[in-house]
Amino acid sequence: MRTLKLFTVLLFSVLALNVSAQQKKYVMVIHGGAGTILKKNMTPEKEAAYIAVLTQALQAGYEKIKSGKTSLDAVEATIHVMENDPHFNAGKGAVFTHDGKNELDAAIMDGKTLMAGAVAGVTTVKNPISAARAVMEKSEHVMMVGAGADLFAKDAGLEIVDPKYYWTKERWDGLQQAIKEDSTKAVLDHGSKKSELLGSKNHDYKFGTVGCVALDKAGNLAAGTSTGGMTNKKYGRVGDAPIIGSGTYCNNETAGVSCTGWGEFYIRNVVAKTISDLMEYKGLSVAVASKMALDKVGKMGGDGGLIALDKKGNIAMPFNTEGMYRGAITADGKIEVNIYK
Ligand code: ASP
Repeated sequence: MRTLKLFTVLLFSVLALNVSAQQKKYVMVIHGGAGTILKKNMTPEKEAAYIAVLTQALQAGYEKIKSGKTSLDAVEATIHVMENDPHFNAGKGAVFTHDGKNELDAAIMDGKTLMAGAVAGVTTVKNPISAARAVMEKSEHVMMVGAGADLFAKDAGLEIVDPKYYWTKERWDGLQQAIKEDSTKAVLDHGSKKSELLGSKNHDYKFGTVGCVALDKAGNLAAGTSTGGMTNKKYGRVGDAPIIGSGTYCNNETAGVSCTGWGEFYIRNVVAKTISDLMEYKGLSVAVASKMALDKVGKMGGDGGLIALDKKGNIAMPFNTEGMYRGAITADGKIEVNIYK
């Protein structure tokens, strides 16, 4: 009798656990960059500002999903909020190249059709994520770079800005500091353990690349990433964000992924597509696949993080840095936002 009672209690607990796990269906996950982000270096005001804008970004995309719009619309709307906010290294507030310019990269991918669009090294588009979407939807190409990409965005009717628009004092000071320390090394905008090991003392841990993955009511996934790249990068350097399969990838059959961190390591490890492949060919969960791919980056000496969302609404947000600006929202609108480990 007692065994039966115990068995019943156990059965109910397992069922309850399953129900609560199923109830947590996420429809969106975002990041605002990973790096040496420590609570001790943060003021309460700054922390509140980050939480506010991450929340606002999630709400912007959630509104789209709730009203039946596509996951692509949600990703674009969410990333616009972060590109327009100087707290992040994307759009306004982007980091500077060694030559004191802003060269922006972005990509977007549709998990339903596997169509993708990307721009690299653009210098006049207010919202590079929209330029990436225009490449996907209004051209037969996947990627455009430099002046051609800027011209294409203008012809597509997107908002064009004077390059001064991206300028912020903090990013400019970050460049001067990086040049003073070692004029040849690119550093993550928010600082990184590994860049410290390479000799950089640049601890500008306030900003970050931005990314978003969304799942719409029709069950379609989309992923996007937008960035200014790395402070003090050489002219023409392109990071992982706009490279489909490295910093950005999306497939309804597996997951949508957006990465942040030391781009060269993400390119060499083809991180985003590796996660999708581990899920597709090995049957791994989004959490296990994401961790495995990031571990590889770490073993090679790279640092950063990523976000991923699968078609069932499961998320993963691993990072091997001190912190990562990140957040997610469930189908019923519950928002979670985190910064530190
Ligand atoms: N991954 C970006 C790049 O290498 C930088 C970042 O995520 O902060 O361009």
